Amino acid sequence: MTRLLEGKPIADKIREGLKTDIAGLRIKPLLASLVVGNDPATQSYIKSQIKAAQELGIEYQLHKLASNSTQADILGLLKQLNNDKSVHGIIIQDPLPKHLNYKEAVNFIDPKKDVEGVHPDNLGRIILGEPKIIPCTAYAVMEMILQAQVDLCGKEIVIVGHSQIVGKPLALLLVDKLATVTICHIGTSKAGRLQEHIKRADILIVAVGSPNLIKGEWIKEGGIVIDVGINCVGDRIVGDVEFEGAKARAGYITPVPGGVGPLTVVMLMRNLVEAVKIQ
Ligand code: NDP
Repeated sequence: MTRLLEGKPIADKIREGLKTDIAGLRIKPLLASLVVGNDPATQSYIKSQIKAAQELGIEYQLHKLASNSTQADILGLLKQLNNDKSVHGIIIQDPLPKHLNYKEAVNFIDPKKDVEGVHPDNLGRIILGEPKIIPCTAYAVMEMILQAQVDLCGKEIVIVGHSQIVGKPLALLLVDKLATVTICHIGTSKAGRLQEHIKRADILIVAVGSPNLIKGEWIKEGGIVIDVGINCVGDRIVGDVEFEGAKARAGYITPVPGGVGPLTVVMLMRNLVEAVKIQ
């Protein structure tokens, strides 16, 4: 029988552990969030961050900049936040307006305060097998796999999507657990070879942003399916995997919504607590 890998119970458990950790810190962690403009998806992400921070007794400081702000404005604010000892974590809400350079801004964050794990120092540490702060979504997927209690050694893992925040760091984290990892991307799809890779996946992780890209019949019987994708189709939110078809074959599958999503914001807060400890 297929089991649903739901994010909320896992997130609740981690949140309880974080409350204890935070109580032991003797300071109130402070997360500074920098947002430029009024992107609607970003506004909803900020709301969920504020809610998570409130539940955990974390101070959330929102720095709103006008959409016509300059790169110098952003770097100036980041410098101030980097130097402020009362600030423990910094997030730059992505996307920035097109005239601004997100990559340059991220590189300017003090790596010890980079709670999204997107600074080159933190990403580079993953290659070295010495991660300190892991990108939140990749971290959430690792936690999901941990909860499914699979021995990763020698498992065939197929990741679809090679972004810096999900596919690439995940591949390295999983290789370090001695899994055999295949990364598929747009080139794999263009070559018409996505199905052949997916069919042998003991664990399939999909992070693309394309509704129903992965057909149910491609899923290996008894495999684990982790769907990171979030897509709005009419008034529904769906993932990248055809859910019903995949559920009929998988051993475990994440629902969308309700799978990886609820865990991601909790992993951000776990990173903040880690950042406090590092500092
Ligand atoms: P990106 O757009 O950065 O990356 C998407 C990846 O998918 C790229 O590697 C891209 O390849 C690849 N891709 C695009 N089209 C295809 C295709 N037809 N076949 C195979 N691969 C393809 O996205 P993100 O990693 O930021 O996010 C991916 C999805 O995950 C989105 O739906 C996003 O909303 C969701 N998400 C969910 C989170 C959660 O908490 N649940 C958190 C973060 C993201 P190429 O670049 O070569 O085109």
